[in-house]
Amino acid sequence: MTVLWEDSGWEALGPGAGRTRLPGWDCTAGLVVGERGALMIDAGSGLGEGARLRTEARRLLAPLGADRRVTHLALTHPHFDHVLGAAAFAGVEVFGAVGMDAVFVHERDELVADAVRNGLDPPVAAEAADVLVHPHHQVAGEWTLDLGGVTVLLANVGPAHTAHDLAVLVPGEREVVFCGDLVEESGEPQAGPDAVPSHWPAALDRLLALGGEDALYVPGHGAVVDAAFVRSQRDELAARFGVS
Ligand SMILES: [Zn+2]
Repeated sequence: MTVLWEDSGWEALGPGAGRTRLPGWDCTAGLVVGERGALMIDAGSGLGEGARLRTEARRLLAPLGADRRVTHLALTHPHFDHVLGAAAFAGVEVFGAVGMDAVFVHERDELVADAVRNGLDPPVAAEAADVLVHPHHQVAGEWTLDLGGVTVLLANVGPAHTAHDLAVLVPGEREVVFCGDLVEESGEPQAGPDAVPSHWPAALDRLLALGGEDALYVPGHGAVVDAAFVRSQRDELAARFGVS
């Protein structure tokens, strides 16, 4: 399934996989396109950004059929810049690591407060949190998702950056691994109060085992990296957190 990524503002990662870097927090959003379905990976930082992603996806999908649209959404972890646009995808099947829905319910105020601390307009944050779409499918181990001609793997590899970290693997000539914020290229990996640092290096070992040496690793923030980068970030995190 070939998508015309050129001049779209999206970076091609393969014929049917691409990503865009959203303004503000340089947050990655991904799109994987099959013959029947299309998976969006993360939803942006608010309703406006989510709607923009949905519109851009529709434009990318239009040459493949007038009725093509995003059918699935995978949320890599419950941080505002990745999830607050989810309501723009209210009609699609949403996936998250098991327990993420509880964060949306019980830690809603902290999600909003974190967004505001990071510069999101308070009413925008509150509105997006009010209408958050909760995952319909909670991934405990691994989940295979058939989009038609391409089967992606959703893997719960945490806890690490948060208690609910979901990675997305896309097969292809070069496998693509959407890492969420388990990997960051444009800055230090962020370990907030909800991080589980002791398990983080093991989560990156798991990512490397899933993707292998030749995969493209797509960080939550920053440029696409290779296995060597992920391995060195794993070693830095292990040293920073005092784990092996
Ligand atoms: Zn994060």
